[in-house]
Amino acid sequence: MKAFYAEEQKRHDPRAFLSSGAAQPNPEKPERVERLLAGALSAGCAIERPRDHGLGPVAAVHTPEYLDFLEHIYTRWQRIEGASAEVIPNIHPIARNGSYPASAVGQAGYHMADTACPISGETWQSALWSAWSAVDAAEAVISGAPAAYALCRPPGHHAFADVAGGFCFINNSAVAAQVLRNQASRVAILDVDLHHGNGTQGIFYARPDVLTISLHADPVRFYPFFWGHADERGEGAGLGYNFNLPLPRKSADAAFLEALAVAFQRIRAFSPDALVVALGLDAFEGDPFGGLSVTTPGFSRIGEAIAKLGLPTVIVQEGGYLCDELGDNLTAFLTGFGGKAR
Ligand SMILES: [Zn+2]
Repeated sequence: MKAFYAEEQKRHDPRAFLSSGAAQPNPEKPERVERLLAGALSAGCAIERPRDHGLGPVAAVHTPEYLDFLEHIYTRWQRIEGASAEVIPNIHPIARNGSYPASAVGQAGYHMADTACPISGETWQSALWSAWSAVDAAEAVISGAPAAYALCRPPGHHAFADVAGGFCFINNSAVAAQVLRNQASRVAILDVDLHHGNGTQGIFYARPDVLTISLHADPVRFYPFFWGHADERGEGAGLGYNFNLPLPRKSADAAFLEALAVAFQRIRAFSPDALVVALGLDAFEGDPFGGLSVTTPGFSRIGEAIAKLGLPTVIVQEGGYLCDELGDNLTAFLTGFGGKAR
């Protein structure tokens, strides 16, 4: 399977984030890339550098003012006397129907959902190349590959059209889905990350042409809290095209595969032309987030089950944090998937 990744994606190196109010080292470390690259190579992937696709495919799912913010906020932030080394918000609008702020501090609060996505001088380029990896993987599938893997880092599924959050800046899965959608009538996104894909849901919430399905730890007591509940079904023309499958904490392989079977019924009924898998590996039992208990062989079975849908598939890396098995879990998923796909 072809895989896409650019060195620039490693430069973004966020320092801290707040967890239950306490400052902690940010777990979205560049070292994740080494583990994931090793995992992809073990699965037989050929790694290619993506092309520079410009802003077009990114602007197809994000607002111009948000992209302008991401590109320039770090420089503007540095002009504030006494400001932190990284852009981190300290005020948020309680609703998003007020005035658009002119100041860097106001815009940081407007465009950043939480403290988990600090912006440094490297963030914009890393996020862009991450998105371009997703674009190239989608183009490989459009060109006839049965599947392709995008080693997207930073991840993307918590990024809305104009809001960063949860380590995410540009929504790589949404970018890939829109690139596929340009060539096909219907695209499904299946998000198997530990956390609900709230940004992806938000981007396609009112659209009937992109089905969004997410399996994740129940957000009743888990990030992202405000989204990911079973009664969020889409709105307007998109009503019935969003489907959430929250799982009880510590759910293991059997429960995950059972929920996956329910997701497959929805996907088959939708009859998409192509599939995007938002592949988080943080549902792993040994992941530092500890929300679900999927095993390494479990990821292989998940990959195998998804491949049986028989759809052209773009696999986009989302979460999955440093633990000894991170690379093995990617190998397990890709091997399980590839074993059935070819
Ligand atoms: Zn996650």
